[in-house]
Amino acid sequence: YTCGNDDLQDIGSIGEGHFGVVSKMNHTTAKHIMAVKKIPMKDLRTSGGNVLELDVIKKVKECPFIVHFYGCLLREGHVWICMELLDSSMAQVSEIVYNKMNERIPEDILGKMTVAVINALHFLQKELKIIHRDVKPSNILVSKVGEFKLCDFGISGKLVDSIARTMDVGCRPYMAPERIDPARACLGYTIQSDVWSYGITLVELAQGSFPYKKWNTIFDQLNAVVSGDPPSLPPENFTRELREFTAACLVKDSDQRPNYVQLQEKEFFVLYNSGRVSVDVSSWYERVKESK
Ligand code: ADP
Ligand code: MG
Repeated sequence: YTCGNDDLQDIGSIGEGHFGVVSKMNHTTAKHIMAVKKIPMKDLRTSGGNVLELDVIKKVKECPFIVHFYGCLLREGHVWICMELLDSSMAQVSEIVYNKMNERIPEDILGKMTVAVINALHFLQKELKIIHRDVKPSNILVSKVGEFKLCDFGISGKLVDSIARTMDVGCRPYMAPERIDPARACLGYTIQSDVWSYGITLVELAQGSFPYKKWNTIFDQLNAVVSGDPPSLPPENFTRELREFTAACLVKDSDQRPNYVQLQEKEFFVLYNSGRVSVDVSSWYERVKESK
């Protein structure tokens, strides 16, 4: 639908990221509630303003594991990215589960999330030739009905790059070794870098804390990620299937790291993709919400 000046009503802030805020908005004529991300125009300088191609917006609707886009608007010196509203991000969920409930995120929940995220990333690669570049817990959203969806991809590669350049590298802690290592960074982002970021995300959500010690400088990060062993999950608390899956995502040499088709063949993925185990994400999420 179209959007006149008075069609959008702000009904409160949802969250704040590195470059702007996300608000809940009501499209009054369509009677539709959505999430609107507002990015200051100055941050789009180098992107030429092409935030998302129209065919990308259309195509994304075919994948059930990706947050839908309604379109972009230019308003008040900002680009407004209008998208489907979900209930929480996995960053918010993990905060509640580990800090308020003193529980863990169960493996079967992580299994369902993994199926969604890997399928979403595979779809972006295969159908749209898009690399996500910002896979992390806050970009994995969950809904009351128990669906997981990936968001915040392709907000123009150029935009993400311009942010990456102006920001301290240490602020982008999910980055793969090949992205940080000055000897290899010139090779650019590969699809394999998203696999690494998902591995870090999975370890963080499985154990409730970011798997590296706090970095003070980019040299600390370089040292830990490029020279150190990749993070891993201890055998006492996690199944072999989950540990093997995360270890596969966190192979340091990007040439040896599995691609999406290979990840989809791993036992952990197959188990939760097969429907052999039924996982009630919705009831679990309900309980998390009550503990908020
Ligand atoms: P970041 O992902 O770095 O936290 P963002 O600006 O992308 O920063 O998002 C800020 C917060 O808004 C996220 O952490 C998430 O909790 C929330 N959010 C973003 N998009 C949506 C959406 N479509 N539905 C619900 N919540 C969202
Ligand atoms: Mg985000």
